[in-house]
Amino acid sequence: MEELLRSIEKKVRPLIGLGKVADYIPALANIDPNQFGIAIYSNDGKLYHTGQAKKNFSIQSISKIFSLTLAMKHYGEDMWERVGREPSGNPFNSLVQLEYEKGIPRNPFINAGALVVSDMNHSRFASPHYAMREFIRRLAGNSKLRSDKVVSNSEYEFRARNASMAYLMQAFGNFENDVEAVLHNYFDNCAMRMNCIDLAKAFSFLANKGYSHHSGEQVLTRRETTQVNGLLATSGLYDEAGNFAYRVGLPGKSGVGGGIIAIVPNRFSICVWSPELNESGNSLAGMAALEALSESNGWSVFG
Ligand code: GLN
Repeated sequence: MEELLRSIEKKVRPLIGLGKVADYIPALANIDPNQFGIAIYSNDGKLYHTGQAKKNFSIQSISKIFSLTLAMKHYGEDMWERVGREPSGNPFNSLVQLEYEKGIPRNPFINAGALVVSDMNHSRFASPHYAMREFIRRLAGNSKLRSDKVVSNSEYEFRARNASMAYLMQAFGNFENDVEAVLHNYFDNCAMRMNCIDLAKAFSFLANKGYSHHSGEQVLTRRETTQVNGLLATSGLYDEAGNFAYRVGLPGKSGVGGGIIAIVPNRFSICVWSPELNESGNSLAGMAALEALSESNGWSVFG
């Protein structure tokens, strides 16, 4: 497997230079674009990696899966009264659908949806970010993981768009807590720093019927796990979810830090990272690497 990973790295590295690193906040804009890493964790506990798989990066929207998981564990089916399960077909930070859908975001992975999910977790935990951080540390089996304050403060400073969504949802009665406090927590979660190995391990429960090797716990039921994977396949890459299904064919979730996680159900959890993004805010080399990996192994869930 590692030989295949090395050959994929060689194949996709020339794409670096064709994309653009996230530049909506200065703290992310300064990253060296010339980086690539990949890690695969198998259900029987084997780890394969290549490139800069041990280099920490900002997980950004990948954190939305952790928040969704925590909320599902607590709220069960009730949570779907406040957030939908349909792809949006719009960019991750779009506001347009919120107005005519009366403050109910289309899915938990666009920013509006993740903000509502963060609001749910806020109602439940006294220290919502610390609850999330402990949860992530447990799932990754790494007690050192933490959030980057420079990144989260910078996100907060440039929060206008996310704040607009949250206030609009509040106006529609779909927000319970203080908007500014929830924004702080949402940004702290997005600013968690992890590497490809941490993330591949942390999401092993999605490839393993909900059971996490690292925490030794049944994180979600088998049914909930299939539900999360279904949502990832339809909405995890926002307005590029269709293209991701076409090219890679796996449940996946991207972040503007350049990470993408993908799940081969009942077999592997994968994390790839390269900071340059395409126009939809998804890692350019990361997508290409996942496409090559899925194709070489026949991993697409579509047959
Ligand atoms: N923190 C980013 C934001 O809220 C996350 C977006 C992403 O990774 N797609 O805009």
